[in-house]
Amino acid sequence: MAWQVRVCVPFSWSASKNAIYVLRRKGHVALRREAREYRDRLIMVLKSALRGQTIVQNKLWLDIYVEKSNHKGDAVNLVDTICDAVKVATGLDDRWFSIRHLDWSINKDDPQLIVAIGQEDVPPSQVCSYCGRILEMSRFSSNVSIKSGRHRICRECLSLPPHSRKLPTLSERIARREKIIKLATSGMSASQIAEQSSVPYKTVWAILNYAPSLITEVSSSALFGQTEHGARIELRPLSS
Ligand SMILES: [Zn+2]
Repeated sequence: MAWQVRVCVPFSWSASKNAIYVLRRKGHVALRREAREYRDRLIMVLKSALRGQTIVQNKLWLDIYVEKSNHKGDAVNLVDTICDAVKVATGLDDRWFSIRHLDWSINKDDPQLIVAIGQEDVPPSQVCSYCGRILEMSRFSSNVSIKSGRHRICRECLSLPPHSRKLPTLSERIARREKIIKLATSGMSASQIAEQSSVPYKTVWAILNYAPSLITEVSSSALFGQTEHGARIELRPLSS
């Protein structure tokens, strides 16, 4: 992590999206007001902790530690409120958020909510709307008619003929998956399958790696020992 700031605010169930079940005696209006106030307090604390910190458009990592005042509610229900506050405080769209850690304990005396946010040493980037890669801004050509000033499709994908940019549908993916598994069980290697079916090697490899029927037949070192491009998975036919 290139930088990280950590803040701490007193815990309250009003930050939970299910506060209504935990704080049954209060009315809806009061609960909504409390939730808003809690969010605003978190925004204020985050903003002052972030003063002077440059935030780039790229992944933002969150570590959340919830000291619950009792065991009546769950920590995961605070995630929405926290992300909402981080979004306002950082000005970064929450599509960039990744929760690295979410843990909890019970603290009856003085429960706290601890939130840490940070980024790695990364350049401002954008997600290509076609290939989905996170790429530096220079990898997108400029386009004044778009708010960000950049094309949403990377230069590389833009140079492909439009018809080849079609993505497979769910039923096509299911059919192709079955075909790939069938070929693998007949003894074909991942690279041969990729070549024959013109499915990206990465996709073939991922399908085979997580196909439960195959995993039982292949030694775990063959499957998990190699992860990079060019790795070869040798699959023994299921029938042998
Ligand atoms: Zn692309």
